[in-house]
Amino acid sequence: MQSVWNPWHGCKKVSAGCQNCYVYRIDSAFGRDSGIVEKTKAFDYPVKKNKYGEYKLTCSDSPVYVCLSSDFFIDEADKWRDDIWEMIKTRSDIDFKIITKRIERFMDCIPYDWGEGYENVTVICTCENQEMADKRLPIFLEVPIKHREIIHEPMLESICISQYLNSGKIERVSCGGESGENARICEYDWVVNTRNQCVLHNVSFVFRQTGANFIKDGKIYNIPRDKQISQAEKAGINFKALNEPVHERKKSKIQQYYESDYDADNPFNSILLQLSKSPFHSDISLSQKDRRYYLSHSIEDIKKETGEIVKENLYRVIPAEKDRHTRKWGHPVYVAQRATGCCCRRCLYEWHNIPTNRRLTERELQYITDLLMEWMKRDMKYL
Ligand code: SF4
Repeated sequence: MQSVWNPWHGCKKVSAGCQNCYVYRIDSAFGRDSGIVEKTKAFDYPVKKNKYGEYKLTCSDSPVYVCLSSDFFIDEADKWRDDIWEMIKTRSDIDFKIITKRIERFMDCIPYDWGEGYENVTVICTCENQEMADKRLPIFLEVPIKHREIIHEPMLESICISQYLNSGKIERVSCGGESGENARICEYDWVVNTRNQCVLHNVSFVFRQTGANFIKDGKIYNIPRDKQISQAEKAGINFKALNEPVHERKKSKIQQYYESDYDADNPFNSILLQLSKSPFHSDISLSQKDRRYYLSHSIEDIKKETGEIVKENLYRVIPAEKDRHTRKWGHPVYVAQRATGCCCRRCLYEWHNIPTNRRLTERELQYITDLLMEWMKRDMKYL
């Protein structure tokens, strides 16, 4: 999951990409002056706690995109930024992603103990055209940052960034078109060109959205807002870098457990290790509410309930059209089901080789229950 943290609101336009800025567009509908930069009520969002003294923002909300209704490095926010860095440092368990068009201000804005960068901060440099790429990226590669990404959004032309990708310092590139009434066009060929550069340099690539006016094979398509992301996904051109480096802090909890606390006799080590290498499954963990539930019940009770839920949801043969990943919430076992490939009969087949065309045996029900219990135990231990 991902979330957004806007500690301040308002911005000043700095380049062509800002022409139809959505902050201005939305503010104007409410008669608000986007040029005034103000602190928001969410200023201390990452360190806010609930009545149990727990952080409201949990690991499952990570990564957190910072300042989407402003620019993190805008000079009007200089007086507030030190507090933000403190919060980011305090929440070292969360990944923060900072998108900016003001990378030239970077060295004036970092905290005293930044060093080579905080491990939990990714800085994303936006370059909407070649001019901005050639202006911003040399600075971006020079300044100390642990994790770097590039965004072409709104992408306004074909952009060559090969020489910057060649540095080996860029982890990911994303492209997207422009939304809104006066959206400028985005061409599929530009996006594919960037994708090919990424493949050549083994850098991950994501086509985020088509934008409202999209050209493919010489034909222009007007794409409604709610279809722009799904249409980009349908293109199927995303690329994951081979041997993408896994940063120590980003390794899944289960993978860390497996490596640091290896128990050769545990029958679930092998399958949990496989699951820990799946980006989808390793990203899942219990919410604070689930954890409270787990702690306030005996292991025997949880195991009994787990067995009952497994039997109720998975025991019988389920027709393919009704066999969906569980979307249920309210008990930690539902989360465990999603994390372990036990959420539907199709996943049971794919991950555990249990056929879909017959009822489960008592032995299989026991295996699933024990696996879910093992996963919950590890998640509780390593969150
Ligand atoms: S920098 Fe970003 S938020 Fe600021 S005006 Fe430009 S597009 Fe809008």
